[in-house]
This record gives sequence, C-alpha cells and structure tokens, in this order.
Amino acid sequence: MNKYFAGIEGGGTKFKCIVANDPSSIVAEAVFPTTDPDHTLPKVVDFYRRTCFEKNISLQAAGLACFGPLNLDPQSPSYGTITSTPKLKWRNFPIREYFQTHLEIPVYIDTDVNGAALAEGKWGGAIGISDFVYITVGTGIGGGIIHQGIPLFGMVHPEIGHMKIQPHPEDFFPGNCPYHVTCLEGLANAPAIRERWKTDPAVLPDDHLAWKFEAYYLGQAIHNLILVCAPKRVILGGGVLKRAGLLEKVRLELFEILNGYVNSPYLDDLSQYIISPALADQAGALGAIALCQRNR
Ligand code: ZN
Repeated sequence: MNKYFAGIEGGGTKFKCIVANDPSSIVAEAVFPTTDPDHTLPKVVDFYRRTCFEKNISLQAAGLACFGPLNLDPQSPSYGTITSTPKLKWRNFPIREYFQTHLEIPVYIDTDVNGAALAEGKWGGAIGISDFVYITVGTGIGGGIIHQGIPLFGMVHPEIGHMKIQPHPEDFFPGNCPYHVTCLEGLANAPAIRERWKTDPAVLPDDHLAWKFEAYYLGQAIHNLILVCAPKRVILGGGVLKRAGLLEKVRLELFEILNGYVNSPYLDDLSQYIISPALADQAGALGAIALCQRNR
C-alpha cells in the first residue's frame, strides 16, 4: 500500500486538502469553504477517509498550515489551538487535536504563511536560500520569516501583517484592524482598498492612486523587514498582488524608501529580490506536506 501525506491548508475562506508527497505526486485534492468547525472539519476528515479507501493508500502523517493566530508552543497545554482570531467560532478551537483524533495519525501544525514559506523554500521561488520572507496580501496580510532554513519563532510566531505603518500623507482612511490604528493589514488588505475607495478593487484602473498607496505600504513593510531580518529574498503574493504592475510599483517604493542605506548585492536587481510565489495557489497545501517532512 502506497504511503502519502495529508496536506491541509486551513485558510480564512477555504480549506484546501491534498494527498501527496511532493508537487509532482498529488493524487487527490479537494476544497471546502471555511464556515465553522462543526461544518468544515468533518468534510475534511471524510475526504481523507474516502480517498484512502478509494485509492487504496494510507496516510503516514498530516500537515496543517492553518490561519491563526495559533498556539505553537509544544510545551503549552493548548498547543495547536487557534487563539485570538476574529472568527468567533474558531477561537480557542484545538484544531491540531481534532485532526489527530479523527485521522488517527500524527499532525504537524504551523501557520498557513510559514507552511507556504517552507514550500517555496523546498520546491518554489526560494530553493537554496536560507533566509527569506514570504508575504501574502489578500483578505488578511500575513508573512513567514525563514531564518537559517526554519520559520522564526520566539514567544509566539511573528505577525508581520500587524506591524505599525506610516500612513501615506494623502491617505485619510483610518485602517480597518480592530486591534491597531495603522497597521499594515488594516491599511493594505483587500477590504481596506474596498472601504477606502468605496468600490470593488477590481474596477479600479491600474494607474489609480489606490495602487500607489498599496505599493507605498508594502514597500514600507519590506523595508522594515530588511532592516530587522535582512532576508535574502522576498516572495510577495496573494490575491491583491495579481493586479498588473503592482509588484513593480512595490519595488520602486522600496528603492525610494531604502534610499541607498543598505549595501548588499541582493538589492542590486530588485526584480530578483521581490518575486511572485512560484507555487502560486498551491503553496499553502504543499507547505502542509513540507511540515510533515520537516518533522519526520
Ligand atoms: Zn493590526
């Protein structure tokens, strides 16, 4: 019987589930909307049970790259629990324990962005690079900092989406984060663009001021990350970055904000320094597979 890993990307809007050992061996996949634990999680478990039966395979472990914040302290009694999320039905939910109980295999958990970062390091846009940052900009903004090949973790996992950001002088939108007045997520997530301009971001033209602001905030965030973590590459993705020309605008903003202060050949060509995710929308689920292999 062939052995595979379960890769579960627990996202804020959907759970993406794959069965694979690497990007070239995905034998099954499914997507379920993120509603509440009682409705979403049994569908995930059922998918894996059914896939094992139909394909006559077994799962040796599951990786869970999950939205958070998460308790990732293995010494804590609530290790693997979702903590202070605004999604009330998920708050304090012991999601790692749930899958361990129902799938009856070891479950390795990390944040969705740390998972995606590990996958990009293993199979994507940061192969062979020991220190890099992965940032995704969508409904939320999150990031994983890979330091010496592993996700940075101290008392908690970093929350780079909530770093304090200086508003653009012409931007009077107060931000939409319930915790902070002007954090990156509150100023630059997709809902902020919609609320600031009172329209669907999709209808804003490429040369609209909205994208200047967006690049200003992301350029500033990457600047701060460079000064604090000195990454050798930045992978910048998510739904908002699908806007044509935005990545180039972010590079220009970063160039201006850096103002020549940091001297490194890595910054000589910003088109190689800030790149799109190579694994695109598969990064999270493949990241969950990478979590299993990291812990073997
Ligand atoms: Zn915030």
